[in-house]
Amino acid sequence: NGIPVAIVGEPNVGKSTLLNALLNEERAIVSEIAGTTRDTIEDEISIGGIGFRFIDTAGIRETEDVVESIGIKRTFEKISQAQVVLYLFDASRLYGPEQSDRHPELVSGSREDSTPTLEQVKFEIEKIRNQFPQKPLVILANKVDQLSPEQIQNLRSQISDLHTISSKSGEGVEDLQQKLLQFV
Ligand code: GDP
Ligand code: MG
Repeated sequence: NGIPVAIVGEPNVGKSTLLNALLNEERAIVSEIAGTTRDTIEDEISIGGIGFRFIDTAGIRETEDVVESIGIKRTFEKISQAQVVLYLFDASRLYGPEQSDRHPELVSGSREDSTPTLEQVKFEIEKIRNQFPQKPLVILANKVDQLSPEQIQNLRSQISDLHTISSKSGEGVEDLQQKLLQFV
């Protein structure tokens, strides 16, 4: 059995897309509608001869939705069981109003529409660090294909040891795989 790696983060940040990029196949269900991944999906891949078991989870978030809360509880269980945690956030939402790839239902009014601030992202990271102090944690800024080089630079200066990736274009995914080998 491979080394368990949990992929966690808010709904719609690109966890399932990252899983697909890592697995190089359309395994997880990717959707523009937040909350699509309500259960967990797991798959194995060999990187540099080492087996990894990636676990795609529902988002970590306070919620009223019963089905989603079960998913969130499961997220914490999966973190407990994981050897490495990948925390993913949507970097494109931190900059400007341009959210062209988002689903129309999410653009106005819905609870998914509140754009997170960098402080909120840092708070989430601290929450995981406090809850799981011993667990290796990789912080991933996803969707950087939507950012200018200046914005990427700015982001890197504000979160230490940040990995910038685009699960969609594959940018940074190989670097991430190399990073994972360091935890073996
Ligand atoms: P999850 O809820 O965290 O699993 O998010 P999904 O993987 O389902 O992705 C949510 C939406 O973000 C989909 O429309 C994806 O196509 C889009 N997305 C994911 N990764 C990227 C990325 O790197 N760049 C861009 N532009 N869009 C992305
Ligand atoms: Mg998903």
